[in-house]
Amino acid sequence: MQVSVDRDRCCSSGMCVMNVPAVFDQDEQDSLVRLRQTNVQPDQFEDVRLAAELCPGGAITVTEDGAGQGGA
Ligand code: SF4
Repeated sequence: MQVSVDRDRCCSSGMCVMNVPAVFDQDEQDSLVRLRQTNVQPDQFEDVRLAAELCPGGAITVTEDGAGQGGA
């Protein structure tokens, strides 16, 4: 899973940072979201999906890994 953010849509609510601090951070200067990592670990999938759903600005985009990796 990959995650990306659109800082132009972020309204600095901080919700994602509170929910998944290992992935999301807030810029100290403008309080807009920053990513700590773009590759989401499996144990964070659910939390990151929820953060994207709850983001009031719709600023978080989650891209699920599709076919092509892992084989079988
Ligand atoms: S939840 Fe959305 S609006 Fe709030 S800080 Fe995170 S990205 Fe920005």
